[in-house]
Amino acid sequence: MAKIPMTTPLVEMDGDEMTRIIWKMIKDILITPYVDLKSKYYDLGLENRNATNDQVTIDSAEATKKYGVAVKCATITPNAARMTEYDLKEMWKSPNGTIRAILDGTVFRSPIIVKGITPYIPTWKKPITIARHAYGDVYKNTEMVVKGGSKAELLVTNADGTTEKSLIHDFKGDGVIQGMHNLDSSIGSFARACFNYALDLKQDIWFATKDTISKKYDHTFKDIFQEIFDNEYKEKFEEAGIEYFYTLIDDAVARVVRSEGGYIWACKNYDGDVMSDMIATAFGSLAMMTSVLVSPDGIYEYEAAHGTVQRHYYKHLKGEETSTNSVATLFAWTGALKKRGELDGISDLCDFADKLEKATITTIEEGVMTGDLYLLSTLENKKKVNTEEFLLAVNERLKAIL
Ligand code: NAP
Ligand code: MG
Repeated sequence: MAKIPMTTPLVEMDGDEMTRIIWKMIKDILITPYVDLKSKYYDLGLENRNATNDQVTIDSAEATKKYGVAVKCATITPNAARMTEYDLKEMWKSPNGTIRAILDGTVFRSPIIVKGITPYIPTWKKPITIARHAYGDVYKNTEMVVKGGSKAELLVTNADGTTEKSLIHDFKGDGVIQGMHNLDSSIGSFARACFNYALDLKQDIWFATKDTISKKYDHTFKDIFQEIFDNEYKEKFEEAGIEYFYTLIDDAVARVVRSEGGYIWACKNYDGDVMSDMIATAFGSLAMMTSVLVSPDGIYEYEAAHGTVQRHYYKHLKGEETSTNSVATLFAWTGALKKRGELDGISDLCDFADKLEKATITTIEEGVMTGDLYLLSTLENKKKVNTEEFLLAVNERLKAIL
């Protein structure tokens, strides 16, 4: 069979530890034998980030802006222990944070659903995608511990030097205060990324805040979403037969639990942080959660939601067998190839990506799976395989479908 040609390269961001091992296996076993892979390769492994003073991360994000689609392997975000382990010059920032800041994107996370892994919520039949605003609020706050007898006020100095003041609290006893902010531009980008993604998936989008209590802060989110929707998306949504639905966050949570899934749930930064872990766990496994960063101008970066699976990597280094789940990383590849195919009009590439996803799901539904799923699966004929055996089993089925 001739390999499927590509016209525009994919930006490939390699990473760390066990996911770096899986990355190479996926390419060798499931991608390069079938696709004449064109990629701009960036090694975001911690050693190379350290050697390049993290320039490689910035370069990879700039390349993503240029080419439009990237696929990223999980990477280590350094902490104190990693400083010694990798003899780092600096505690480099989270690559995801750096890339997100350059692309100004919103992260969408969806579970991959397979027979045998039952969601903890029995009504959930279709995936629920979380869209998390990734700027501001409590993640960029200023906090103070205050003593009794003090008076706390919000003070804004305007550009013309005039000031506005508002009382927070007259403290009789000791307490705490917190100041946070967001930007209309960032909220607007978030709204557009959500509406574009809803059109892309042809799914409804829900958005929720606490605007009844937070009459200025949360209400601004609500207003910006509504204004952008009315001015730019209303007709496109009608044509696509999908809806934008706003409700209060507590009402949203209750409706999500009663729903059957199949929509996108846009969340403010903190809500998205909390709810994405809830959704991932309730659907079954973090190793089955895909993640894509979408910029307001339509740039896509695909990855797995989980980390570098450090514990498995240390076993691998000791020569022990591992049974690490490669599905989310594999779906990052298929997502990126499919998007590249769509943008370049290469239907064979989209078709290949669909078939590879199908082969992966069939493998698990026929009972062949890694250890994490083996513990969860309700299938009777299930069999646990190692990291490489799983990919080889997918390849067998892929060959049959192709
Ligand atoms: P992790 O990679 O998410 O793994 C935590 C645990 O979850 C694993 O030990 C494993 O449990 C299970 N797990 C996660 N993914 C799995 C998979 N694909 N297959 C099977 N089991 C899986 O988190 P971590 O090991 O605590 O963090 C390692 C590094 O990842 C950190 O340096 C962190 O900075 C980085 N990280 C990167 C990203 C990213 O690049 N997007 C995201 C999060 C974390 P068992 O050990 O019980 O088998
Ligand atoms: Mg979190």
